[in-house]
Amino acid sequence: MKEQDQFMIQDPTSQYPKATPEWKQQQPEPGLQCKMTPVPDAGETSYRGTGRLKGRKAVVTGADSGIGRAAAIAFAREGADVVLNYLPEEEADAQEVIRIIEEAGQKAVAVPGDLKDEQFCEQLIQTAVEKLGGIDILANVAGKQQSVENIADITTEQFDATLKTNVYALFWLCKAAIKHMKPGSSIINTSSIQAYNPSPNLLDYATTKAAINNFTKGLAQQVASKGIRVNAVAPGPVWTAIQVVGGQPVEKLAEFGNSTSLGRPGQPAEMAPAYVFLASHESSYVSGETLNANGGTPTP
Ligand code: NAD
Ligand code: MG
Repeated sequence: MKEQDQFMIQDPTSQYPKATPEWKQQQPEPGLQCKMTPVPDAGETSYRGTGRLKGRKAVVTGADSGIGRAAAIAFAREGADVVLNYLPEEEADAQEVIRIIEEAGQKAVAVPGDLKDEQFCEQLIQTAVEKLGGIDILANVAGKQQSVENIADITTEQFDATLKTNVYALFWLCKAAIKHMKPGSSIINTSSIQAYNPSPNLLDYATTKAAINNFTKGLAQQVASKGIRVNAVAPGPVWTAIQVVGGQPVEKLAEFGNSTSLGRPGQPAEMAPAYVFLASHESSYVSGETLNANGGTPTP
């Protein structure tokens, strides 16, 4: 992928490549981004901060790879210290992010663990409060997506794991974090184009994304008087590990994202500015909003 510059004007249709048949690949869940071809661009060499999150204390889930990694790198380059959550199997990806955050002169605190566990979610927030001295940004980016064509083949185990990872963890983390949040804090959830246009092979996953939009709008109203804002980012097809670990049927990866209006898949680096905007005080009058970054697909 060519070298990027976020401040340079360029044609978004050709800024990043279209998917090709060489993109067909598979790994077991949760997968490693460093083993993907091509390796997604999470802004490692390109994201430049302008001090918008100076002194902030952020928790990012799914921070090892993909969209969470792009958000964690951007937060650090904007001046925030970051607590990173990911699964223990993803240590190789996480170590790269930790190095990048430290190179930006910020604190990186690694807290690997499974968000399907309520106690772990509470512990993650507690650790952030202890290690960073508080929490003012919670970016819930972790997610589980498994493609299954037929409802008859969706196991209760999968349905439960998808709901636990994508919805219950969100509830547990928000519940624990809000207690510690001061006015000016921001929660950013991760929805999807699937919330409005569900693919038939993503029944359980798409259901969780609609729930996340709804949860975001309800919680935003509930905590507004505390000075806490709650928003969501809704990505379209973005080239990340989740897609090559069973998130899509392998054949579909050959043309992944090519049917969007912009004609190509998005890259994680293109999601980071949305998280930064919603985390920073630039979005002081924005709450309960879903910011769609989906390659130009109209949304309700
Ligand atoms: P990714 O695989 O790089 O990141 C997902 C992360 O979720 C993993 O790195 C892992 O650390 C974390 N995770 C999964 N299960 C977990 C568990 N039980 N405990 C702790 N962490 C767990 O893929 P991504 O595309 O960057 O995904 C990030 C978010 O973006 C997800 O919520 C996904 O639904 C959402 N999203 C992705 C796309 C896309 O096309 N890639 C589109 C819309 C929404
Ligand atoms: Mg990962």
